[in-house]
Amino acid sequence: MAGAPQDFGQPYVLEDFLPVEQPTTSTLLCAMCHKESSRQRCSGCKNVKYCSTDCQSSHWATHKLLCKAFVDTQDTRPSPKSRRALYFPTDVARPRFIWLEYNIDGAPLDMQKCFPTTPKEEIKTIGFYDRYLPYWIQLSYDSNLHSQRILSKNMSIGHAFRGPVVALAYDPESGLGKPALDVDTTILGALREYAKLREEYHGPIFVEQPQHRYSDEEWKKIVRP
Ligand SMILES: [Zn+2]
Ligand SMILES: [Zn+2]
Repeated sequence: MAGAPQDFGQPYVLEDFLPVEQPTTSTLLCAMCHKESSRQRCSGCKNVKYCSTDCQSSHWATHKLLCKAFVDTQDTRPSPKSRRALYFPTDVARPRFIWLEYNIDGAPLDMQKCFPTTPKEEIKTIGFYDRYLPYWIQLSYDSNLHSQRILSKNMSIGHAFRGPVVALAYDPESGLGKPALDVDTTILGALREYAKLREEYHGPIFVEQPQHRYSDEEWKKIVRP
């Protein structure tokens, strides 16, 4: 039914995204093997489920990096506009949860605090979807770390990436039009898998920008007739 003209295009107000949604773990899939109807929860964080004790033990190597940290952030939300994200430093093995503030249009306001020395235009953002997770994952990273567009080891992801990485989760329905969801511990496995695939990928590579003007010599190699 067509609404009255004044009903069209409701303004976004802060109340539109309060209270904070926490829907990311409604799934009953086993965090390790993705079998359905898994009901055995991690007793530490109650954030992940397993089909068996075997799956839980195998998953612990990864899950232990975030299990306690997740519990520790439960009551530390700085403001209703803050959403939990996961930060992957390059030089330590453990990723850490951080809080980012969101604008009413869904864009993080303070992403740059994660990349203090990176010019804004060099912070690249990509999104992907993991079929076992009920949210959409978005990554931001420094695309030009130390002025070199190369992959380098990110210890907390466990694979090569470009510098530190920030991971956010979005509702697949409302997407980027609303602030991110709170990231929980389930994002880590999907992210590592994605980074592994990216590292192993040897197909055509998308070149973001040439790093320098090609010499005549180089150019001849590229456009060899
Ligand atoms: Zn399982
Ligand atoms: Zn846990």
